[in-house]
Amino acid sequence: MNPFPYSNDNKRYKSLAYENSRRGLKVYKAVIDAGLSCPNIDGTKGTGGCIYCDGGSGYFTASPAVPINKQLADELIRIRKKVPDAKAVAYFQAHSNTYAPLAVLQKMFETTLSHEGVCGLAVATRADCLSPDVLDYLAELNFRTNLTVELGLQTAFDETAAKINRCHSLADFRQGYSALKSRGIRVTVHIINGLPDETEDMMTETARVLGKMRPDGVKIHLLHVINGTCLHDMLKRGQYIPMSLESYTNTVVRQLEVLPPETTIERLTGDGDRRTLVAPLWSRDKLRVLGTIDKLMAERNTWQGRLFGKETPV
Ligand code: SF4
Repeated sequence: MNPFPYSNDNKRYKSLAYENSRRGLKVYKAVIDAGLSCPNIDGTKGTGGCIYCDGGSGYFTASPAVPINKQLADELIRIRKKVPDAKAVAYFQAHSNTYAPLAVLQKMFETTLSHEGVCGLAVATRADCLSPDVLDYLAELNFRTNLTVELGLQTAFDETAAKINRCHSLADFRQGYSALKSRGIRVTVHIINGLPDETEDMMTETARVLGKMRPDGVKIHLLHVINGTCLHDMLKRGQYIPMSLESYTNTVVRQLEVLPPETTIERLTGDGDRRTLVAPLWSRDKLRVLGTIDKLMAERNTWQGRLFGKETPV
């Protein structure tokens, strides 16, 4: 028997599918590239970006040269081939989608919301790209639509953040996260496993630190080595060793144990571009990864949140 309360199948974590079914929602994501930049690319904070960055880490987006309305229309055609009449949350995934003057963001989001097929916004950005005027606008949008802001934390360790050229600290993250939460905005946080020199204990500690902030959603990623990135060069020089399936799944189970049980787990595997993925190649088999996590949790008779709030060493 599954002892985890927020599940209607064998999952011992609160999956996005469970959360949507509980709310009677069938939500699809229309992935949009608005063509914005990032302060870690344009020289404001850094140049070259994070060592794993592949053109803004927006994997499934159209060219930003395509107008947003056309991108939305194309995405809805794709989605409605499977589910006629489906509505979609417009997911601004690539780069930092609050990193522009307010007027630019207003035009971008208002155009999107006026599209007949759109029922909400998911806005991926950095915690250090939330100016007061943008925060106020997001708070206003939050009254009008189903809004989620997605923030990348990646790691709670500033020494790792320096190694990956993130140009962004845990303190930066806390500030941006708190500013959103204090305005009642739903926040999903991304963390990455397999960052250079991080141990399983460190990755679990990142989840524990994040769990204390009680995020609405979490996306757990595996670090992918993508062709042509700095990380790819490190791999070729023997300076980076990708994570094994065993280590990744063991770490994810430990992370789920220390996250709050009410946090929705929106992703447990990465979704890299298969054509440019260099390593780890086992990550292509998502069903195997998810199945291994389910099996481990059942074998250990554990569940999301079992160690949440406990100061046991991880
Ligand atoms: S924050 Fe995102 S878009 Fe900016 S450099 Fe890092 S991965 Fe790329």
